[in-house]
Amino acid sequence: MSYSIKRDKYKSARGGYSRMLDIMCRKCETSVAIYQKDGPGNLRRMYSDRIFSPEELTGLQHENLKDIPPLKCPKCGEILGTPYIYAKEKRKAFRLYQDAVTKRIRKVAK
Ligand SMILES: [Zn+2]
Repeated sequence: MSYSIKRDKYKSARGGYSRMLDIMCRKCETSVAIYQKDGPGNLRRMYSDRIFSPEELTGLQHENLKDIPPLKCPKCGEILGTPYIYAKEKRKAFRLYQDAVTKRIRKVAK
């Protein structure tokens, strides 16, 4: 399955450079999500509107924050991040715990 990069004001704000990433649990290396990372720098949070997979993690930007569970590894149950609102953009995200995940770059069709 391939996903296409979302292009919007958030992407432009980060310099227009994006990658599609496989986010994996560092502990057991299970794939946790497919995520679009915009701009340079470390992955410290995952914005809800940039999560493409799995289905239960998509569309969370439309939910109430209190209804969003912590980001958890589906296999080993490790808690990887907590939901919060990135104040600067009023944008829902998961704040990732330090070193909780690893990432692998996916090839995308331009
Ligand atoms: Zn795990």
